[in-house]
Amino acid sequence: MNAPAPRFFAFDNTYVRDLEGFYAPWKPTPASKPVLIRLNEALARELGANPAVLASLAGVEALAGNRVPEGAEPIAQAYAGHQFGGFSPQLGDGRALLLGEVIDCQGQRRDIAFKGSGRTPFSRNGDGKCALGPALREYLISEAMHALGIPTTRSLAVVATGDMVRRDRPLPGAVLTRVAASHVRVGTFEFFATHQGPEQVKRLADYVIARHYPALANSTQPYLDLLAAVAERQAELVARWLGVGFIHGVMNTDNMTLSGETIDYGPCAFMEAYSPSAVFSSIDSGGRYAYGKQAGIARWNLARLAETLLPLIDADTQRAVKLATEVIDAFTERHAAHWLAVFRAKLGLDDTGEADADRGLIDDFLLTLKHQQLDFTLAFRALTAAATGDAARLQGLMAEVPDFADWQTRWLARQPIRTPALLAAMQQANPAYIPRNHRVEAALDAAVEHNDLAPFERLLAVIQSPFDERAADTEYGEPAPSEFTKTYMTFCGT
Ligand code: AMP
Ligand code: MG
Repeated sequence: MNAPAPRFFAFDNTYVRDLEGFYAPWKPTPASKPVLIRLNEALARELGANPAVLASLAGVEALAGNRVPEGAEPIAQAYAGHQFGGFSPQLGDGRALLLGEVIDCQGQRRDIAFKGSGRTPFSRNGDGKCALGPALREYLISEAMHALGIPTTRSLAVVATGDMVRRDRPLPGAVLTRVAASHVRVGTFEFFATHQGPEQVKRLADYVIARHYPALANSTQPYLDLLAAVAERQAELVARWLGVGFIHGVMNTDNMTLSGETIDYGPCAFMEAYSPSAVFSSIDSGGRYAYGKQAGIARWNLARLAETLLPLIDADTQRAVKLATEVIDAFTERHAAHWLAVFRAKLGLDDTGEADADRGLIDDFLLTLKHQQLDFTLAFRALTAAATGDAARLQGLMAEVPDFADWQTRWLARQPIRTPALLAAMQQANPAYIPRNHRVEAALDAAVEHNDLAPFERLLAVIQSPFDERAADTEYGEPAPSEFTKTYMTFCGT
């Protein structure tokens, strides 16, 4: 007799239950020889799962898609999206599957999904697969973002499939298990607005309100308020990205969540030398998604969401457009307010100063970084050290900058005294360790080319504690050699 299948997660699948017609039920493609590469034990526990069971033979089979765990109802979700400004009416989960939802130990509903689990009805010409390198990359960067306190999808596991994936050369394949507040995207709304109509968009909007914005359930204008609430989360999210030098790289509307989490780590990267035009993605030659353009793009994406909601906002189209436009216009100011809060914290300033004067002080510091091509992370860390009485690093960095002493005088005059709380906030706003691009590439190269996971594990440990400087990790705080950064490129969906 067969032993009963282990119960990995207590699934409760509202998307399947409430949104029939928004997805295709589907099964993952089995892997020929699954091997567990990485399991996020803390996250497993958070989801109410037993890490030892997930790491067992049966667990690895489940994480590879070879056997669908009890309670899971795998589906491929339908969505559309504006990619680099052009509309693709039919995207969807081409290489992903939503296994189901669980309630975590904090009472939050979370999606558990695969990436790289084979072809689906939405695969178009793709193979539905994911190579090991990109799966490990998403694991590293998403966990780094989480450690930095930035809303993000998480990574639960990476399993090597034992099958090769055909890219520009054959590469080992993998399945990443991703955990998200949900996978509803701006592109999900676009899909149903384009192919169906306001009733279906309303079903989706009601679902999103119930799941992510329950306070709006009794609103007199729930759909306008939904737009404003999503805009508010994105305004803050992008400000938080800018505070750590993060460049998403592919801010298409299908890669923007309604929940406000960062999603889809493809050609993303952390900036080293400060430059608003920094971009690393091989497919973004026009710099549409450059570091300094991200707020404008978020606003553009929100306007696409707004268009899908117009019929729900008001039966009078003109009035609906007017109301939605006010929300979209307000985004710029809301983002500026979050940006100011993020950068005040980075400079160790309280919030009592005059906003324009503080913006000037911040901008002048950033301008110095830009002109001197200084490393963004190191410069703010040096500023943090100076705020705690150790000015040597800052002096060293700025030795060549003629009028930096003037800036420092203004900085000191603006905040002569810092309370322990203000200093602590400054520390938390200025990480010592980000996933440096050369370290990420070295870790992935060792894993993929030499089957050596030690550099990946080491880097992961470093970026999981980004704020405390450790003598043993000094080299992880250092920028890449400039020859590396000059030619560094990241790739999408590989
Ligand atoms: P991404 O660039 O990963 O955000 O994906 C954009 C769209 O392309 C989504 O609909 C994906 O499901 C699809 N896609 C990306 N890579 C593949 C692949 N290897 N096979 C099938 N579909 C893919
Ligand atoms: Mg995507």
